[in-house]
Amino acid sequence: MSDHDFILLDEDDKEKDTENAKTDVTADAADAGRKQEVAPSDKKDDKEDGYEKICFMCHRPESVTGKMIDLPNHITVCPDCMQKSFDAMTSGAVDLNRLMNIPGVQFLNMSDLENMQPKPQKIKKKKEKPKEFHQIDIRKIPAPHKIKARLDEYVVGQEYAKKAMSVAVYNHYKRVAADTADDIEIEKSNMLMIGPTGSGKTYLVKTLARLLDVPLAITDATSLTEAGYIGDDIESVVSKLLAAADNDVEKAEQGIIFIDEIDKIAKKRNSNQRDVSGESVQQGMLKLLEGSEVEVPVGANSKNAMVPLTTVNTKNILFICGGAFPDLEDIIRERLQKKTSMGFNAELKDKYQQDKDILSKVTVEDLRKFGMIPEFLGRLPVILTLKGLDKDMYVKILKEPKNAILKQYQKLLALDEVRLDFDEGALEAIAEKAMEKDTGARALRAIIEEFMLDIMYEIPKDDNIGQVIITREYIEGTGGPIIQMRSSSQPKLESYSAN
Ligand code: ADP
Repeated sequence: MSDHDFILLDEDDKEKDTENAKTDVTADAADAGRKQEVAPSDKKDDKEDGYEKICFMCHRPESVTGKMIDLPNHITVCPDCMQKSFDAMTSGAVDLNRLMNIPGVQFLNMSDLENMQPKPQKIKKKKEKPKEFHQIDIRKIPAPHKIKARLDEYVVGQEYAKKAMSVAVYNHYKRVAADTADDIEIEKSNMLMIGPTGSGKTYLVKTLARLLDVPLAITDATSLTEAGYIGDDIESVVSKLLAAADNDVEKAEQGIIFIDEIDKIAKKRNSNQRDVSGESVQQGMLKLLEGSEVEVPVGANSKNAMVPLTTVNTKNILFICGGAFPDLEDIIRERLQKKTSMGFNAELKDKYQQDKDILSKVTVEDLRKFGMIPEFLGRLPVILTLKGLDKDMYVKILKEPKNAILKQYQKLLALDEVRLDFDEGALEAIAEKAMEKDTGARALRAIIEEFMLDIMYEIPKDDNIGQVIITREYIEGTGGPIIQMRSSSQPKLESYSAN
């Protein structure tokens, strides 16, 4: 027999076999008296409808567990849980009756499943986040003025901080790209940001990381302690960054770590006690800031025997530390006044008392006095100061940034074909209210949400409303908004109807 004949024969056999198999299955099902039904939704390809199956027992999705096993009543179980259940049932060593009563221990009981009406066994698949805006390629890092121009689109005011940050970032990523082996090593541009709470420190860093499309880890210095004490050890910030980079070490090594509330780890002034959270944490961070190899767990934030470790080099990670540094102003003033009292310029004293921008005159010496250790400050060569927000800035924050809060509300109401406007008085009233709260621009959203609730509730009730103007009186509770009806020549389109 030739090869060719053999193949033909083989194919024929296969076909016959499948046919036999088909009849066997139908016969079996008929014997059992119940044919397994296939839910209409199961017939569709799961990948296409954007949903995926989840395990009835451990609730993990199919993309994590691997192919699910379908059971009657549209129940799906992952291979791991199925295996565990079988193992427990088959090994005689376990007394199932006793185990069933232990909280947290579950076994699959087939007879229970038959009477059960399970919840939907699918969850929406995670979608890839759409890119929000055009990002900057860090390999072709643009000139500082271009970086600043992008920051300007989102961050109001803080001109000095934005400028200094753009230059520092430009230098940093140039240094990363160059990474030359010659003798001239460019110093790392780690930054220290000083500014009152709610002045935009975190926001600035977040915007920067989004623009550069680099991973960002934000952590609070107060949660960090020296290894061995309760709290996160210092290296945990690197594992946070690794997680933000989807465990991609190379990406993480070019990321940004923002450590907030850095002023809280200042050395305690006038204290002889050993403080775990202050000076020693600063000491512990030195190596990290400078650049060192850190062993971090992959996919978890604590080292233990079960988690694989990987090495991350912090040499090219940009560290930005931020804090409000209360009382720092007094230290700066004191220094400046000392200088003047030695001279003859007594009226300058008054000037310093009133200077709102006194923070911008900060020196490393002032920060040492505050309680930061010199070695730590030496590793943060770029010092940025942010201004406390004034009324004008609050108003601008409300309306100017690309994703300003007012623009968001305007867009929401535009979907109902209603135009939303705020008169200048209203914006000022909101700003005044926010200033009373002392939490910076964070207060704005809370205030707006409070009074926009009624607007968002009432306006869609009436299809004839075409425009709403929010007034100072409405914000202050002494009047209502101005409502304008749609002209009869511009009826609302049915497709946008509130219902
Ligand atoms: P902090 O300085 O305490 O870190 P944040 O950066 O968290 O303050 O600011 C809180 C919120 O206030 C931000 O999410 C942002 O929406 C807004 N905000 C603060 N400052 C500005 C600013 N200069 N421009 C635009 N929005 C700002």
